[in-house]
Amino acid sequence: MDEWGPEKVVCVSDRKSGMKGVLVLDNTARGMGKGGTRMSPTLSVNEVARLARTMTWKWAAADLYYGGAKAGLMGDPNAANKEQLLRAFARALSNEVPKEYVFGLDMGLSEKDAAIFIDELGDRGAAVGLPTALGGVPYDELGVTGFGVAEAADAAAQTLSVPMEGARVVIQGFGAVGAAAAERFRALGATVVGVSTSVGSVHDPDGLDLNRLLQLRGEAGDGCVREYGGVRPTGDALAFDCDILVPAAIQDVVDVDVARSTTASLVVEGANMPTTGPALEVLAARGVSVVPDFIANAGGVIAAAFSMDNRYSPFATDPAQIFAHISTKIRGNAATVLLESSTRGTTPHVAARQIAQERVLAAMRLRGRTAIGEHAKQPVA
Ligand code: NAD
Repeated sequence: MDEWGPEKVVCVSDRKSGMKGVLVLDNTARGMGKGGTRMSPTLSVNEVARLARTMTWKWAAADLYYGGAKAGLMGDPNAANKEQLLRAFARALSNEVPKEYVFGLDMGLSEKDAAIFIDELGDRGAAVGLPTALGGVPYDELGVTGFGVAEAADAAAQTLSVPMEGARVVIQGFGAVGAAAAERFRALGATVVGVSTSVGSVHDPDGLDLNRLLQLRGEAGDGCVREYGGVRPTGDALAFDCDILVPAAIQDVVDVDVARSTTASLVVEGANMPTTGPALEVLAARGVSVVPDFIANAGGVIAAAFSMDNRYSPFATDPAQIFAHISTKIRGNAATVLLESSTRGTTPHVAARQIAQERVLAAMRLRGRTAIGEHAKQPVA
């Protein structure tokens, strides 16, 4: 607990089913609590509280009017009595859901589980992430996050006056995020020259045959790079010659060595926390711009916000609208963060965090939730 939150922690349990769970509403100054719902055998209140805090900053950095929250259910996501546990969890939180919190997807929960939540509470607004047959939107299939990553890169390139037409792009990771980003980069006029998966990497300075690689991905998954031909060790990708580097796989891969040697003038973080702290400093010193993860990969949360706003609408599943929404938000946010980082003389990561905190604090002051604020200045009657 600190000056930001959490505002409310609700621990629930049910002896009959063995259900144990927690809801954390971290900071709702900018809007009601929203964040995914996790199921894991090792879940702890502290873990959920930390995730809820991350959501507070993520919503504010994306400039969307939701508050940080997260819920978690302790248990094996493959347990035979999962449905019973989900129903008991939803019932126990019926005071809070959907008024203060709406269930969503995170580790251990799928669309089918979201359907159970709305059924148990008799309210289709109780969860987002529903199956398509119930009006939900398949975000990973649509590639919303990868699309947003390429949009962030394009906005950053414009801000930095780097031409996107013909820009050489290397993408580490060719999963839901990496593959969708590659398609969008191509549509924006860039040339994808390198791609890697956990199996290996492929490189062609004249541009990879993306259609073939995407088709092979459908057939062989991560083995697509081997099937493509000319496969090299997976780690080579981070050293491929490029203008834009997109780590879209795992954390801490852009280390000081990569930061010192990359030829990229722009790094766009598709994965969560792919760049180490010291590497960020090296990149900044070398004049390499970085679009931070929670700005660039916010396509998923923006799509979730779209679902939140349209939970009760029968006309809400038009993907074109969702992509337009993501494009506008992410482009604006990426440009703002890069401009602010140069105005403030700090890294884009620090600027993004400061912007998020300033937005949350401004909302807290307006609502009279701080000792020092708009309302604290009013004379006491
Ligand atoms: P995914 O499982 O679909 O794909 C991961 C890809 O990374 C695979 O191609 C895998 O082979 C590759 N990979 C793993 N280790 C690698 C390594 N050492 N070198 C090269 N490639 C490696 O996952 P995803 O959904 O694409 O997520 C990728 C990253 O983006 C994760 O950090 C995730 O947390 C983050 N992210 C995803 C979303 C989303 O909507 N899916 C949203 C925000 C952030």
